[in-house]
Amino acid sequence: MVDLKAQYEKLGSEIDAAIKNVLNSTAFIKGPEVGLFEKELQKYLGVNYVIPCGNGTDALQISMMALGLKPGDEVITTNFTFIATVEVVALLGLKLVLVDPDPFTYNISLEEIKKAISPRTRAIVPVHLFGQCADMEGIMKITGEHGIYVIEDTAQATGAEYIFSDGNRKKAGTIGTIGTTSFFPSKNLGCYGDGGALFTNDEMLAKKMRSIANHGMKIKYHHDDIGVNSRLDTIQAAVLNVKLKYLDRFNSARKAVADFYDEALAGCNSIILPERSGFSSHIFHQYTIRIKNGLRDELKKYLESVKIPSMIYYPEPLHVQNAFRYLGYADNDFPVTSMLCNEVLSLPMHPDMEQEQLDYITLNILKFFEKQ
Ligand SMILES: *Cc1c(COP(=O)(O)O)cnc(C)c1O
Repeated sequence: MVDLKAQYEKLGSEIDAAIKNVLNSTAFIKGPEVGLFEKELQKYLGVNYVIPCGNGTDALQISMMALGLKPGDEVITTNFTFIATVEVVALLGLKLVLVDPDPFTYNISLEEIKKAISPRTRAIVPVHLFGQCADMEGIMKITGEHGIYVIEDTAQATGAEYIFSDGNRKKAGTIGTIGTTSFFPSKNLGCYGDGGALFTNDEMLAKKMRSIANHGMKIKYHHDDIGVNSRLDTIQAAVLNVKLKYLDRFNSARKAVADFYDEALAGCNSIILPERSGFSSHIFHQYTIRIKNGLRDELKKYLESVKIPSMIYYPEPLHVQNAFRYLGYADNDFPVTSMLCNEVLSLPMHPDMEQEQLDYITLNILKFFEKQ
């Protein structure tokens, strides 16, 4: 699905030197590379503050702690996302309100958000799923009217750009109240272990989040907030400083792969291609198609038999997971999410894919449907 080895072969000497540098300095926590990464990512994103932390899940938790969300406050998010997005809502005792996504872009549906807003809604967490931004202009408009915070989960879309109706462009994660991301190795900007970050333009919030990520202290051994221990290791920051320079190039290479898939699979009636919304660039963290007529699992098995990996992101809606049964939703409450879980299939996607691989994958997919 991803080829981290090919990427390491390309950047290996630069990354080795960066890691060696940290080993020589022994500043493993809060070393200078962390501060440098913060500055570089701020510049790249065009945002005032970047606060690195331990991982993308922590970033989400820290954002909600910094906003002072209290047990019982309602947080709206999509039912079609990775578990991390909702886990922290539950951990903090907040009330999780799930909504269906759009069936073609897979991103949270603005219409469904509107229906779910109540007087107790305090935050909305749009997830920029598979590398494409949710409808941020629409979301900012309704949340602005209601005084609701927006936390953008940018874990799958670091580097994607939202395009406003006036043509203005902003990087994913810099539009809402807070943006969060993950540097898990397989993300578009990944390190060699766990890592994450928060973004904001609000100085007070930035200070609060920085404090919470480091045991609630601004001054050593003086604790103003109840915090957590969540920092980005210096070695991971050193890796990210190298990789950030290549992010746009890697994202363009992913888009070229997606363009090829789009074209090669366009004629097949059993496949619904991923829709590209007019208001976002797409950096294709995943290239995810929908397979009609109940053939998804059979196709997946066939691909396995010819040694082509594929993945189902995500196989089960959150509301039917045992851990979230307590929410009390009925099985058929989210028809779009349930349909997507039965139809989606993600194909191999990374910046180092070769034409030969792409031909082999697409020809085999088409061959499978010819036999039906
Ligand atoms: C990966 C991911 C996260 C969590 O990131 P970690 O660094 O693994 O904690 C959160 N949200 C989404 C949408 C993700 O894909």
